[in-house]
Amino acid sequence: MNEQSLVLIKPDGVRRALVGKIISRFEEAGLKILAMKMLVAEKFLAENHYQLDETWAQNVYAKTKNSYEKDGKKFPYKSALEYGRTIQSWNMKFLCEGPVIALVIEGPHAIEIIRKMIGSTEPRQAPPGTIRGDFAAIESYAVADSKRRVLRNLTHASDSPENARREIALWFKPEEIHSYKSAHDIYLEHVENSKN
Ligand code: ADP
Repeated sequence: MNEQSLVLIKPDGVRRALVGKIISRFEEAGLKILAMKMLVAEKFLAENHYQLDETWAQNVYAKTKNSYEKDGKKFPYKSALEYGRTIQSWNMKFLCEGPVIALVIEGPHAIEIIRKMIGSTEPRQAPPGTIRGDFAAIESYAVADSKRRVLRNLTHASDSPENARREIALWFKPEEIHSYKSAHDIYLEHVENSKN
């Protein structure tokens, strides 16, 4: 039940001075920070983080096509893999553009909860109350694609336990990941041990 997720505050989040606000949301939800650092990603790291596989490309293609069609616009791209390759190259450029904050965050169902807290990939569709919906709502596929650049949506979070394991190993050495009891852990222990 306890899961770990790799969370990134991407260069737009750092430049827009949203680091504290974004991290507070995870802390306030009761999730635990196990590791955190600021760095400028090297090309090999960005390349390995945004691995191009067919399922991911199909998914990116379908999500973007849907959004175009909702606006009554024709989606001009034909090949999902080609489209995925373009987005991957934009992503790599963006990730290396300035400092990022990388975190390992832990908690019960952490992967699902953090994905819910960051909101939809397209901030325009992310509900208020989510990180993308509150801080980046004016970003859309249409705007990003017309400028041939990535969607600036502030955060990345692992979308499955397998990807979380791969991404955490990519960004952190084992000795950079800490183990401690948070106030939340102590509170829960107290509740479980108390007779009331
Ligand atoms: P998520 O970050 O929500 O897991 P994806 O894995 O589908 O989303 O895509 C990775 C990142 O690629 C997104 O966060 C976004 O920054 C960028 N991206 C995805 N699709 C597009 C697109 N059509 N145009 C521009 N950027 C995109």
